[in-house]
Amino acid sequence: MQYHASHLMRAYARQPVSFVRGSGARLWDAQGVEYLDAIAGIAVTSLGHAHPEIAAAISEQAGLLLHTSNVFRIDWQERLGARLCALTGMQKAFFCNSGAEANEAALKLARLHGHRKQVAQPQILVMENGFHGRTLATLSATGNPAKQRGFEPLMPGFVRVPYSDLDAVRQAAARWPDIVAVLVEPVQGEGGIRVAAADYLRGLRALCDQHDWLLMVDEIQAGMGRTGAWFGHQHAGITPDVVTLAKALGNGFPIGACLARGQATDLFSPGQHGSTFGGNPLACRVACSVLDIMARENLPERAALLGTRLLDGLQRALGSHPDVVAIRGQGLMAGIELNRNCNELVGRALAEQHLLITVTRDNTIRLLPPLVCDEAQIDDIVARLAHLLSPTASDGPAAPSETTPQEAAA
Ligand SMILES: *Cc1c(COP(=O)(O)O)cnc(C)c1O
Repeated sequence: MQYHASHLMRAYARQPVSFVRGSGARLWDAQGVEYLDAIAGIAVTSLGHAHPEIAAAISEQAGLLLHTSNVFRIDWQERLGARLCALTGMQKAFFCNSGAEANEAALKLARLHGHRKQVAQPQILVMENGFHGRTLATLSATGNPAKQRGFEPLMPGFVRVPYSDLDAVRQAAARWPDIVAVLVEPVQGEGGIRVAAADYLRGLRALCDQHDWLLMVDEIQAGMGRTGAWFGHQHAGITPDVVTLAKALGNGFPIGACLARGQATDLFSPGQHGSTFGGNPLACRVACSVLDIMARENLPERAALLGTRLLDGLQRALGSHPDVVAIRGQGLMAGIELNRNCNELVGRALAEQHLLITVTRDNTIRLLPPLVCDEAQIDDIVARLAHLLSPTASDGPAAPSETTPQEAAA
């Protein structure tokens, strides 16, 4: 490479690999070396890389109209809003460009809801180990002191309780009369792939009803089919008041959405919130294409089937590995918690197995493969991981056609 990272801020710890093209779950670097993508750009490219229908939607719309302004009506935005509301049971949408912005909109809705109830200092209940973004408000909502360090003073207005603990929520309700909303992930992704039990989400719904709090579900990582339902909270059969989306909504084209229903629907009045780029014709058309493809190909259902295959495979290959503490997941969100710091595995998986993985919370391998993987690719992910974690790991990538997960673990 002629260029180096010397003119980029050091916000990321980057691997020394750069990809030049992709197809489905496969990526190639400039030397033509092929890699298997088990993270999909962190739950973004769920339809895989270079999906021809997405490429066509982008190029056709780019030749027609990229951007006008939210000063005007935008047909694709109206269409996308209607489709997302139909899928979630929400009533209205606000569009932005990222997950953090979608959560910012939700946090602002919660404060408006509080002020409408005459609560002067509205508090929002958030969870330990939760992740909601990197802007100052969403960082303040995030339950990870390591990510917050250095950015104090954080934003006031958050009360934090342990995840999956309804008693803690009840105690907070008794102690903090100014709580007006709950912000929660159905599966904590950055938090180590922690899946909320259906009873927990139902309990939160009941407590929100009881106290007139908005139930705001952050579906930015778990939504859009990844957990085996269109949205993670749907496994619990509940309807939130606010749902936030981003990541896979544009399959790599930046777009975020904050959806609301009931008393949250019309909290914003004209001029109270906005985004220059948010909901432009290009982004909304791409997201409509994403929904077309996901619906036509039953990708949420496919994520459920492939997810079972992935978790079963991981369990067989690594369940009795001495370093493995737990294997968890839902659909195509899987975590393998190790008994040690395993950040070095990201680089080793790339170099030795040509496999893209991430590690979260320093000790949990996180897998977020594209929903369009085939069964062989899921088995291949398992085989390469088993090879990576085997005590006698050699340098070459595992040969999936000759190595079943069981053999690789042996
Ligand atoms: C990624 C993520 C965000 C932040 O999204 P950005 O697009 O990076 O701002 C928020 N919440 C959850 C659950 C996420 O996984």
